[in-house]
Amino acid sequence: MLTDGEIEAVIEDFHRAAKMASELGFDFADIKHCHGYLGHEFLSAHTREGKYGGSFENRTRFLREVVQGIRAMAPGLQIGVRLSAFDTVPFRPDPSRSVDGKLGPGIPESHEKLIPYRWGFGVNASDPTQIDLTETIQFLSLLEELEIPIVNLTAGSPYYNPHIQRPALYPPSDGYQPPEDPLAGVAQHMEVTRQLKKRFPNLIFVGTAYSYLQDFLPHVAQAAVGEGWVDVVGLGRMVLTYPELLWDATEGEVVQHKRICRTFSDCTTAPRNGLPSGCYPLDSYYKTSELAGRLKIAKAKR
Ligand code: SF4
Repeated sequence: MLTDGEIEAVIEDFHRAAKMASELGFDFADIKHCHGYLGHEFLSAHTREGKYGGSFENRTRFLREVVQGIRAMAPGLQIGVRLSAFDTVPFRPDPSRSVDGKLGPGIPESHEKLIPYRWGFGVNASDPTQIDLTETIQFLSLLEELEIPIVNLTAGSPYYNPHIQRPALYPPSDGYQPPEDPLAGVAQHMEVTRQLKKRFPNLIFVGTAYSYLQDFLPHVAQAAVGEGWVDVVGLGRMVLTYPELLWDATEGEVVQHKRICRTFSDCTTAPRNGLPSGCYPLDSYYKTSELAGRLKIAKAKR
């Protein structure tokens, strides 16, 4: 475990990186507080001793010290935050429902002995399979206090509960079959973002987890922005297959349905097996490459 002194050194690295980014002409830096990255880990460091753990103030000290240094060393650089606004316990494939080597649907890891649950952010401590936005709201108030104008909301971590931030029909090779209809996951993201946007109208909210909507994505995105549920719809997986989707949809071009992301998750499975991320099933660059053969072998071994 890093000492407080070593964390201070890491924070100084963030400052230097921000100065470099500013000198290179970047407009803003995203200080990640999501998906198990360091900032996210600190938000759930309830049991850590010292000035970076325990209280909400201590668990957000990392953010405040990073921002303070960026403002001093790169005053012109804008700051945004990608936040896992809610979380749940780790999930695993249900061994009793694994068929023919195919992973079973996801079930929560046993957590009954871990109540109150002190290892997550945006989680209900008495029932960590449920979300609790109390501290998420406190965190967004802190962003306003620090004059950080833009936040991208996501959830959990792709390393222990991939279904809550990347709803998908086909799991990554080290994942589990969907424990719920992936649409429920999309709806949860949209509802949490809608609630928080209503509470923080001055913050710019970038929404996430729309790719599973597939052909309906442009319609839902337009409605969500139009209704004020979100300010910007962020695209992740869909950009790997079809970066022009929203352009085509809004400019009245023919939507190329063959290029729409179908949530096969190879873009996650590949890097988990030491290969570059990309859309192996739909992008001819990857599909026809020798990498595709190596991915096939890696998946067969799982
Ligand atoms: S591999 Fe392609 S189709 Fe599958 S999730 Fe990634 S981008 Fe979507």
